[in-house]
Amino acid sequence: MAYTYDTENIFAKIIRGEIPCDKVLETEHTLAFRDIAPQAPQHVLVIPKGPYVNYDHFAAEASEEEVVDFVRAVGEVCRTLGIAPGDGGMGYRLINNAGEAGVQEVPHMHVHVLSGRRLGRMLPKAD
Ligand code: 5GP
Repeated sequence: MAYTYDTENIFAKIIRGEIPCDKVLETEHTLAFRDIAPQAPQHVLVIPKGPYVNYDHFAAEASEEEVVDFVRAVGEVCRTLGIAPGDGGMGYRLINNAGEAGVQEVPHMHVHVLSGRRLGRMLPKAD
């Protein structure tokens, strides 16, 4: 497997503090912040702080500590936003885009957390 990580991508700059973000949560290995162009009333991006291009890169090369931290951080973000069904919240959708077919724009692994309204069908027609 060969993954090339671009250290100048926008999320790398956010992690380094070179670009500001509207932070929702930060842990040792994970950062969550609001999307600059929200697609729903609640739209948060959760990213590992490590240099991973996409989900399969993260799954293959992140440490167990990083993976556990990330998974738990996503759940914590949902509870923080008040959208976790287990806490009486309205629910949410998680999206991870990877590569060309996934129409990934930023080449740093991230999960979108979307909520605040009914989100409609899972996939629109391709553009
Ligand atoms: P992708 O298409 O790669 O899954 O999603 C990238 C997301 O990053 C988009 O939803 C886009 O609005 C968001 N984004 C791009 N640049 C910035 C930025 O500088 N700050 C924040 N907070 N979000 C960004």
